Amino acid sequence: MSLIPAPCNTGLIFKRTDVPNGEIKANYKNVTETKLGTTLSNEFGVKISTIEHLMAAIWGCGIDNLIVEINAPEAPIMDGSSEPFVFMIECAGINIQEEVRLVVEILKKVRVEDGDKFIEVEPAKEFSLDLQIDFANHQVKKQNFAYHSVSTSFKVDICRARTFTFKHEIDYLQKLGLIKGGSLDNAVVVDENGVINKEGLRYNDEFVRHKTLDFIGDIYLAGYYIIGHFKGFKSGHGINNKFLHKLFEDPSNYRLV
Ligand SMILES: [Zn+2]
Repeated sequence: MSLIPAPCNTGLIFKRTDVPNGEIKANYKNVTETKLGTTLSNEFGVKISTIEHLMAAIWGCGIDNLIVEINAPEAPIMDGSSEPFVFMIECAGINIQEEVRLVVEILKKVRVEDGDKFIEVEPAKEFSLDLQIDFANHQVKKQNFAYHSVSTSFKVDICRARTFTFKHEIDYLQKLGLIKGGSLDNAVVVDENGVINKEGLRYNDEFVRHKTLDFIGDIYLAGYYIIGHFKGFKSGHGINNKFLHKLFEDPSNYRLV
């Protein structure tokens, strides 16, 4: 994968270099699968999957214009967090471009529900997010995280939080012939007795911090930074995408400023 600078108003674009017609805009309308991660597809049926951790890093670094070249159908999982991508971007450096950044400002409350899950947003002066997760597994259980753009640092508080999975789910996926490259180097694995990874957790509440990371990555498929106060309960790639469709279907919900 290579991250390549792009001129103003390019937006974020993925380019599969291993197939013809490999260009896919990083936009919520191009999301076609949300089961194991967020997958984008273009009109030629070309796909790029598991983009959410890279998208979160791009959001966290404040990047608006970028070409992401990848020679495979999936973004590299790295250590299951956004940190390696943030590190790469910081090593390369960030160019301040000529044009003013356009952002989406929320004008009224928008809410989506899916069973007991929900996401809502209300007008606010900054981006903020209150997220709660609730898992049956007693090692994860209920966790809350409040992200406030003034006091929370994406780099310090969020980007190192790794994806997590449950031992029984891995056994099932491996039976299906999936996640052959998966190991304890790219996810936190939990069973009934706790975290299997020898190194333990990077944050006591790493699980909800990773869900915050996923949320940020998915929501950046709006194509713009969004200013508003979000609340989420049991968020996931599916409802994150549903939320963006609901937000943008009514032009009175927001304005570009
Ligand atoms: Zn994730």
